[in-house]
Amino acid sequence: MALTGMDIFKQLPKTNCGECGIPTCLAFAMKLAAGGASLEACPHVSEEAKAKLSEASAPPMRGVTIGEGDYTLKIGEELVVYRHEKTFFNPPGYALLVEDNEDSAAIDAKLALLKETSYERVGQILRADLVAVKNTSGDVNTFADVVKKVTGAIEYPLILMAEAPAIEAAVEAASLAKPLLYAATAANIDAMAGLAKKYSAPLAVKPTSLEELAELTDKLDGMGVKDLVIDMGTRTLKETFQNLVFTRRLALKKKQRPFGYPTITFPAEETDDDMMEAVHAAVYAIKYGGIIVLRDLSPEKAYALFVLRQNIYTDPQRPMQVEQGFYPINNPNEDSPVLVTTNFSLTYFIVSSEIEGSKMPAWLGIVDVDGLSTLTAWAAGKFVPERIAAFIGKSDILDKVKHKTLVIPGYVAQISGELEEELQGWKVVVGPREAADIPAFLKSFQPVMA
Ligand code: SF4
Repeated sequence: MALTGMDIFKQLPKTNCGECGIPTCLAFAMKLAAGGASLEACPHVSEEAKAKLSEASAPPMRGVTIGEGDYTLKIGEELVVYRHEKTFFNPPGYALLVEDNEDSAAIDAKLALLKETSYERVGQILRADLVAVKNTSGDVNTFADVVKKVTGAIEYPLILMAEAPAIEAAVEAASLAKPLLYAATAANIDAMAGLAKKYSAPLAVKPTSLEELAELTDKLDGMGVKDLVIDMGTRTLKETFQNLVFTRRLALKKKQRPFGYPTITFPAEETDDDMMEAVHAAVYAIKYGGIIVLRDLSPEKAYALFVLRQNIYTDPQRPMQVEQGFYPINNPNEDSPVLVTTNFSLTYFIVSSEIEGSKMPAWLGIVDVDGLSTLTAWAAGKFVPERIAAFIGKSDILDKVKHKTLVIPGYVAQISGELEEELQGWKVVVGPREAADIPAFLKSFQPVMA
């Protein structure tokens, strides 16, 4: 049973010192009970109270890490059912399925394409996260050979889909660190738990029902295997989606620990239609897939899925922002125009895309206005002459260009005079109101040379 806010309050020092960042112990207790605070934030809680409160302070959904190093994937630790309640934290991992009976050259080609399928969007790198290798051949040595081949071709962490002997051979052959072992069932739970403990690896659990899921995760927890990932075993969109919703609600709303783990889903095994596979993956990216395994992650599907995930896993209470600074577009030089706009990611994305599309070189200055769009930032007193002038003054733009002409968005034409006063020696030019008019503007625009 989860503890209530009052149960937690009784264990706190009740000094209201505020060092946890919350003014009173009672408010802190309520926040902790709701999963919105960590017990570690209170430096004065006793060891005895800590032990009593461990249940309440543990996140309702466990975080699970797969792999080690730069390509580590962390899933789980979600605190809300609906994104607008707070935010979703750890984006799901997209995994490409490789079967060990596939043609060797085909596997090479798939992995090479997967590695290339990486994009930069609003300052973030979008790519897949995992490779799932399945022992379809049933042969232990073939599986180990393919796993070795995959690790030699790509650094992404692996999901090893096989029975215990084949997994053990593959882990030894490829010296894998923290692959996800797939999967413990009622029939093989002891062998799989033994491997998970031996290699300190996370383990997937595949029950036949919600009741069996609770039994299996309880048993594994008792055996000391705590990093678990749930596969509900269903292979239709409707059933899988239902189970994802059930487990999320049981974990977060009912605080049922046996269901408090991230999930793995298999669009690859739910449909033979490549486009429907993308549809299933999109549904699970929205709710509540932890890992999404696809047999086809070709660029046209991958980009759409990556962007969807990026949008779902941004904080709805904080606009996506681009880092302040000057961005070169189309290889600008010292004669190229200098433009400024705000750091709202969508503004940056639209303006930079239009400049790129124009094929005209330019320097795009991004001013930090807490992620607001141009007009909103101006109305909020953030995209104003003092701030823009301070940004230009601190930047190194005058090392890059030999002119002092600055183009501002047409929507803030009213600040041009004041900005010219703030920016001594600069000429301020009012650019187009709409981003779509930037290409035509740039084609006829020449900065005034010093
Ligand atoms: S730091 Fe601890 S003692 Fe101080 S207000 Fe927060 S909960 Fe209370």
